[in-house]
Amino acid sequence: METLKLGSSGTLVQYLQSLLKTLGFYKGNVDGIFGNQTKSAVLIFQKNFGISQDGIVGKNTWQKLSNYFYIVPTDVSYGSNILELNLKGFEQKFPFLVQGNIGYSALGKNIRYLKFGNGKKQVFYSASIHANEWITSVLLMKFTENLCSAYLNNSTIGGYPANYLFNQVSLFIVPMVNPDGVDLVVGNTKQYLPDIFEYAQSLANNYPNIPFPDGWKANINGVDLNLQFPAEWETARINKYSQGFTKPGPRDFVGLGPLVTPEALSLYNFTLSHNFSLIIAYHTQGETIYWKFLNYMPPNSYEIGRQFSSVSGYTLETTPYASGFAGYKDWFIQNYNLPGYTIEVGSGENPLPISQFQDIYNKNLGILILGMLLS
Ligand SMILES: [Zn+2]
Repeated sequence: METLKLGSSGTLVQYLQSLLKTLGFYKGNVDGIFGNQTKSAVLIFQKNFGISQDGIVGKNTWQKLSNYFYIVPTDVSYGSNILELNLKGFEQKFPFLVQGNIGYSALGKNIRYLKFGNGKKQVFYSASIHANEWITSVLLMKFTENLCSAYLNNSTIGGYPANYLFNQVSLFIVPMVNPDGVDLVVGNTKQYLPDIFEYAQSLANNYPNIPFPDGWKANINGVDLNLQFPAEWETARINKYSQGFTKPGPRDFVGLGPLVTPEALSLYNFTLSHNFSLIIAYHTQGETIYWKFLNYMPPNSYEIGRQFSSVSGYTLETTPYASGFAGYKDWFIQNYNLPGYTIEVGSGENPLPISQFQDIYNKNLGILILGMLLS
């Protein structure tokens, strides 16, 4: 684990600050810059936990902090480094939550999955297939934390007893489909893998009007993972090429064929090896729920969509033609004729500021619970 001290910076420092704030030791901004105020907070933490007081976060201090890794921060730029720490925390705190990998990213990072519950019915939620939509990872991770805490404490979530939910369904969650892309957007790649950062920048140079790295949705090789599924992929290719997306870049490049990226292929295989009766793919922008693909109208899909809409205040819509093909939910609906949804949370410019998190969480909690019950 990286040692943090005066002068350190980045998302891990943000995480440290967030954690110390949650624990009541830090009152400053969660800005990712390890200054004197952060050092003072570390010193107080060390004093409280009986570690030698040097103001440096090394092995012993991380060890003590790791008891709180299960707390998902909702005020930091959330990359795969923090996801991994939270998952370690979940492993300690919530042993009943199954963890595994669906595969590996182009850079060899874990693409994690979680499984909550023992029910026969299988439901699947995924997030951050688009890099600059990483706030959706925080949504699914915070939901998982709260769901597991409720189960652990024999209490309720969203009005439902957690142990009822546990017995009712097996909920599968992939909180970050595109870890390489997310790390690029949150600053981890620039800090830890400068060569890869330059490589991505060279791809982004094909599209000078798209902000870099903030406008990056694709995987690290510049392929848009949500245009990678065998559901009218050829139509998606024609649409996107006609819009000028003919080369790898930050977004909207369909790739040289369907499922040529390890991330999309992993998601595809993971889906085929289960029996999901409902899926939700989380995205950002527009507070909208998309439920249809072409003329497929899976039984109950519209009705469930109406209920999602009513508990969230989001509008239920059909996908616009220009972006209506080769997406994960498109393929799921086409392949299974079962309810599949793309949910676009929040509004503004991607990446959405993490300050929108609480509002997004409040609006989606009902959907996340109903998704487990209605399918
Ligand atoms: Zn998206």
